[in-house]
Amino acid sequence: MSVEIRLRIAARDAILARKTTIGIVKVSVSDEDLVDVPEYTLAQIAEVLANDETLEGSGVVDATFGSVVRGLEARAARRIAQAAAEEAARAETIEAEARTAGEEAARRRQEELARARHAEAITQWIVNNCDDDMIERRMAGFLKDDEIIEEAMDQIFNIPEEEHTPIMPYQACDCDKGCVGSVRASVLPIEHLDTSQFATLEQIRQSAPEGAEVIPQMRKSACPACSCVPLVRMTALVRMPWNGWMLQKAYSLG
Ligand SMILES: [Zn+2]
Ligand SMILES: [Zn+2]
Repeated sequence: MSVEIRLRIAARDAILARKTTIGIVKVSVSDEDLVDVPEYTLAQIAEVLANDETLEGSGVVDATFGSVVRGLEARAARRIAQAAAEEAARAETIEAEARTAGEEAARRRQEELARARHAEAITQWIVNNCDDDMIERRMAGFLKDDEIIEEAMDQIFNIPEEEHTPIMPYQACDCDKGCVGSVRASVLPIEHLDTSQFATLEQIRQSAPEGAEVIPQMRKSACPACSCVPLVRMTALVRMPWNGWMLQKAYSLG
């Protein structure tokens, strides 16, 4: 009995070995051929047969059992190289993931640090500038950011002029057409101020703290669905960055 193993003989390898048969050849492997073959080679032959593989490689030069053995060696070498390449690629992936995870952790630490510094600065400001009630509520965790910001604006802006009261939609459209929901508010640049409004703007500019921006803004509410007269208010927006927040409040220019 015998089995057949397919070999592919490369022209260059054949000629250099002084052989002239090239291309695909079949080698009959008999019981006698396998007598002295080590166990792992037998396992490889079994695999080649099961997968219907064709052996090839630089030692495969003729249709002999010797070429089969060299073909198996070349196959084993290729597999080892492939496994090593896969292993290297896996290691690289793991390394890249670890690096990304490290960057992510560092970024989170930075954020936590920034949050902690912000909270510390806010608490410090409250302790130095607010009454006992606010300090106690801050310490107990019951003081909301909105109230702190409002308080900070009152104290830091310290602008005596009247605050702008937002225009309500029903003020800009009071007809009975039921179109009050169409009222749109917009903020536009100011092109004209009367004497008194201009004086108020100058007053706000003088009262505003260092580092604050004072932006003249026309606030307009209009209903495009009816003929109600649009409402227009002249205001000045005061804004200033403070401990990571943007403080901003609109004042009426009258
Ligand atoms: Zn209307
Ligand atoms: Zn309307």
